[in-house]
Amino acid sequence: MSCRSHVQLLRLINQFGPLSRAELIRLSGLSKGAVSMVTAELLAHGLIETRDTVHGGGRPSVRLGIAADSAFFVGISLADRPVMVLGDLHGTILDRHDIDLPDRMEDIGPHVRRLIARVAPDGSIHARRMRGIGLAVSGLVDEQGGICVRSTLTGWENAPLGPLITQACGLPAYVENDANALTVAQYRFGPMREAASFSLVSVGQGIGCGHMFGGELFRGFRGGAGEIAHATAEPGGLPCLCGKRGCLDTVSSLAAISHLATRAGLPGELEQLEQLAAQGNLGAVELLHRSGSALGLMIAQMVQIMDPQRVLVVRQGGELTGLFGRAMRQAAEGNILPQLAPRPEIITCDVMADSWAFGAASVAADRSLFREF
Ligand SMILES: [Zn+2]
Repeated sequence: MSCRSHVQLLRLINQFGPLSRAELIRLSGLSKGAVSMVTAELLAHGLIETRDTVHGGGRPSVRLGIAADSAFFVGISLADRPVMVLGDLHGTILDRHDIDLPDRMEDIGPHVRRLIARVAPDGSIHARRMRGIGLAVSGLVDEQGGICVRSTLTGWENAPLGPLITQACGLPAYVENDANALTVAQYRFGPMREAASFSLVSVGQGIGCGHMFGGELFRGFRGGAGEIAHATAEPGGLPCLCGKRGCLDTVSSLAAISHLATRAGLPGELEQLEQLAAQGNLGAVELLHRSGSALGLMIAQMVQIMDPQRVLVVRQGGELTGLFGRAMRQAAEGNILPQLAPRPEIITCDVMADSWAFGAASVAADRSLFREF
């Protein structure tokens, strides 16, 4: 069972469901016969299940929803704090573990096999219905080849993580950039489920960015789309780890804010700086204004170039409601073409610490079920 109609209906049910067959016919444009046949096959495979009966004007109809326990996924984040999660097809995290990584990249396959046995022991329903493993890594990724081109965390270069893990675990393994993985998670299982076109910007030790357009991740020619972290924000500015100067990462990332604050004799934590700024400390006000404005201006440029419906700005473990967030919003909204209507919404939110690993699990779900199977 692997055809376009199956994927199309599964996507619609995930996005807008539960849905009746009549609603599926209307939304998909498929014939009544095709929807009947495909939903029967999806039910037989256990991927969808019958839910409540709705009584409208005509005959009562049964609504169909995604069956949460029909497929499970493991997500591993190789970001600054490696985490593994087990997720189901409703996007619920069922289990999580802080994990270690092997010293040698060559050992990643057997290492991941041992890790997975902790959340999906042999013979368990989780093991029997495990559909794939996702890995979220920082930096550039060759998603087709499952290769981590460069990881700053581990120092691995051109690491064929996907093939090594697939070989050891006997399951498909997918490697994705961490901001892209978070973008997929927001679309498949999060608040952006109904927004087919949005851009995500993550503010952490570094800046991350992903674009979802028409329900597809936009990766660019080399997989480098969304690398706004290394777009120049201050020409001739501070040196960046990438070798350039004045990248957004040197002004607006939490690492940059901390660095700039320490140089100015201020505390390095964003929350402490926000408190000082609220008390009228000029140094803190200037710094947060500079960092927030640079990010906002970059978001405005991105909106002009990509024209997303929404921009979701996320930060792990904290809100962006202080001066940094206000300066960011002001610079973004003040520099977007006024005639662009309706105005792209800029939404800020806090994401949980396990979001990156959950993003990785979402990539496994997305690639194994919402594309082809
Ligand atoms: Zn850079």
